[in-house]
Amino acid sequence: MKEFQLTGLNEEHLTYCHKLKITLHKEAELPLIHLKEEAQAAGFDLRVLSSFRSFESQLTIWNAKARGERKLLSDQGLELDYQDLSKEEVLWRILRWSALPGFSRHHWGSELDVYDKNALPDQNYSVELTPNEVATDGIFGPFHDWLSNKIETDQAFGFFRPYQNDLGGVAPEMWHISYAPVSISAREQLDFKFFQEFLGSVNAQEIELLELVKANREQIFQQFILNITPPQSL
Ligand SMILES: [Zn+2]
Repeated sequence: MKEFQLTGLNEEHLTYCHKLKITLHKEAELPLIHLKEEAQAAGFDLRVLSSFRSFESQLTIWNAKARGERKLLSDQGLELDYQDLSKEEVLWRILRWSALPGFSRHHWGSELDVYDKNALPDQNYSVELTPNEVATDGIFGPFHDWLSNKIETDQAFGFFRPYQNDLGGVAPEMWHISYAPVSISAREQLDFKFFQEFLGSVNAQEIELLELVKANREQIFQQFILNITPPQSL
């Protein structure tokens, strides 16, 4: 991938998948369709809530959280009171659940947030993707048990869960799957120099809390960008 494709500022690496009605990396389309077909055979209707995200859309999420216009969550997924938090606390709270614009894996097109449409209790149910929904006894528990088995037995067509375990960075996100052949090479292109240069770029100047991000750049890079659960076959 080209450097500007890593940061969500270019969409040449992407394609529109008509079957799932989402935009994703060209190389991930067919494996995803295969995974969906296998899910269907097992009784699940695999849908994607979020796939490619541009720099602009990640910026909208980030800035809304930084300004207290969008919910900030505790590790348990409970809403926190923005007024009670210092700027530093707001920064770490956002990073736990949302990536810094330019450094969301969703920019790569290889990352998907998935759920089982068959498990929805009714048509009006709004999927939030919370720890409760994906817990063993949650509505998407059976779907994730099935998916875990596919991943563990190396039958998930190259998909794995980078946020499977709590490594002290991004909170565990069972619903987030990554197409390894694309994301491994994208991840290898990220180094601290690239990160640092991006923070000085024109686009980055739109990011709220940028000065605090810069002051904590080494920790953020290690703890929230590089720190993932690798595919088990590696
Ligand atoms: Zn995700």
